[in-house]
Amino acid sequence: MNVKMDVEANRLKGTQSLTYWNNSPDTLHKVFFYLYWNAFQPGSMMDVRSRALGKTILGYTASGDTVRDWDRRVKDRIQHLTPEEIGYDSVLTIKMNGRPQKMIYHETVLEVPLTHPIAPHAKVTFDLVFKCQVPLQIRRSGRDNAEGVRYSMSQWYPEIAVYDENGWHPTPYIAREFYSNWGNFDVKITIDKDYMIGATGYLQNANEIGYGYQDNGTQVNHPGGDTLTWHFKAPKVIDFVWAADPDYKHISAVADNEAHTVINVIYKDTGNAKKTKKWHNLLKAAIRVLPFIEKHFGTYPYKQYSFIQGGDGGMEYPMATLLKGPSLGTAFHEWMHSWYQMMLASDETKYPWMDEGFTTYAEGKVSHHYYTTYADSIYKNRPKARANKMEDLAALPKGEDGAYSGYYRLERSGLAEPMTTFSDHYMTNYAYGQNAYSKGAVFMEQLSYIVGQKTLDRILLTYYKKWRFKHPGPKDFIRVAEKVSGMHLDWYKEFWINTTKFIDYGIDSIRAADGKTSVILHRHGQMPMPLDVVVTFKDGNKKICYVPTYLMFGKKPNENPDIERTVYDAWPWTNPTYEIKIPVNKSQIKSVEIDPSQRMADINRENNKVIL
Ligand SMILES: [Zn+2]
Repeated sequence: MNVKMDVEANRLKGTQSLTYWNNSPDTLHKVFFYLYWNAFQPGSMMDVRSRALGKTILGYTASGDTVRDWDRRVKDRIQHLTPEEIGYDSVLTIKMNGRPQKMIYHETVLEVPLTHPIAPHAKVTFDLVFKCQVPLQIRRSGRDNAEGVRYSMSQWYPEIAVYDENGWHPTPYIAREFYSNWGNFDVKITIDKDYMIGATGYLQNANEIGYGYQDNGTQVNHPGGDTLTWHFKAPKVIDFVWAADPDYKHISAVADNEAHTVINVIYKDTGNAKKTKKWHNLLKAAIRVLPFIEKHFGTYPYKQYSFIQGGDGGMEYPMATLLKGPSLGTAFHEWMHSWYQMMLASDETKYPWMDEGFTTYAEGKVSHHYYTTYADSIYKNRPKARANKMEDLAALPKGEDGAYSGYYRLERSGLAEPMTTFSDHYMTNYAYGQNAYSKGAVFMEQLSYIVGQKTLDRILLTYYKKWRFKHPGPKDFIRVAEKVSGMHLDWYKEFWINTTKFIDYGIDSIRAADGKTSVILHRHGQMPMPLDVVVTFKDGNKKICYVPTYLMFGKKPNENPDIERTVYDAWPWTNPTYEIKIPVNKSQIKSVEIDPSQRMADINRENNKVIL
């Protein structure tokens, strides 16, 4: 792409030359492009949908304010945009292999019926001429956001849609979630020379541009004229983001990982020393945590990553994120999207939990590692880790166990929907957010309970190695988990993902029987699970009574080798009760508890422990 930005009119003109490979076995008679910025116009599908969600009242804050279901950044703001404030993406001409093609506009989706079909495994070239107007910042992209960043340029160019085994994905831009092809990007951006850019990819003419990108000691002499042309290349990425501002500051450092990844932090310099310190702290934290991330989640294959101030919260892109501020939790979260959205890149319109949920799980592990390893963190009394991120409602619960409490609240709210729901089709933003982030993160944490944490660590690395750059779906993840753990796990997906059935186990009774002890367990919920029942004796010793569920056809390794474990027969899922016999006199037992690790998302823990 070759684009020219007019910073007075907030418009850009550009050309795109797209080499498109039809890697499918099908003949393609049409193609689709996304034109996301057409959503930022009064009466758009995004506008109508947001205003409709605003009619759903979720509750009231402590101060009596109404909590509406709409995204608090979007609300009814699109309706009030003036012609200068709206956004648009307009394709002026499109050619395939030099031949002009027709275009049919469907607001944020452009349909292109082809004059000649694209044969299986054939390659064609599309040439587009397009122009865009940058919308006033409403959601993710736009100009002049709340922090005063001039341009947050995300979802900005005409982007070809994905064709996969499910066919085309002409998904209108309503609110959330993206699905993109991998490609090699070569982008030239011409802009006023006072603007600094942060972007996906590697700057090709760094010594000509400067702004902190140049080689050490290089004297930068800008050519004459009012503009600079920034040339970026980004191999094997699913998107290209950039942001620009005349007051950006750029700091960078090399991470402590083997590949010495370059980390850039680009923020708007407001002269606020406290804020500046936090941006510097983010750079320090990022270079420190990368070795941990790579060890647990797989190598980071790109040469650089940029944390760029922009957008309206935290939003992930390849090799970069747009951040509202220097919050470490958000920064770790968006970075971990590099694994689950940028490299694994599941269709998050269909499976948002495979991106947001897995990312939230990983963010929790990275945060925990950082705060427990580095005592000099400036956040001594750091805010509690958040499992519910940017895209959620303000009213969502926070806390160390945010993902679990968020999920429990969803179950009790009466608004729960199966996680198989298409992301834009949820009845409420609330249920979407809780499913994608909280229930998705619990899916992973709870899997560590089923297979054991060490096995889960191996599953995640194997999943990454086998499926990166291949768009895995739910069954692909489950098959990896089954092969690595040696257990059957399809049932876990069937219950947790495909239904809203919940888990509730309890202890019915503990009886003395012939010098032994009989514990009657009761399944109150509809979803079966394996049980770690921990017996604590009066002398302080403990014992684990492990009851696999029938459907697993296996057992997890003992996670606590210091504690004796007895493996009982599998519990048939049809049976409401199960008896454990402990060969010890009841008088020696102090307490019996189901899953003291609390990784099993039991919606009622009141009945999980009996103290004798
Ligand atoms: Zn996220």
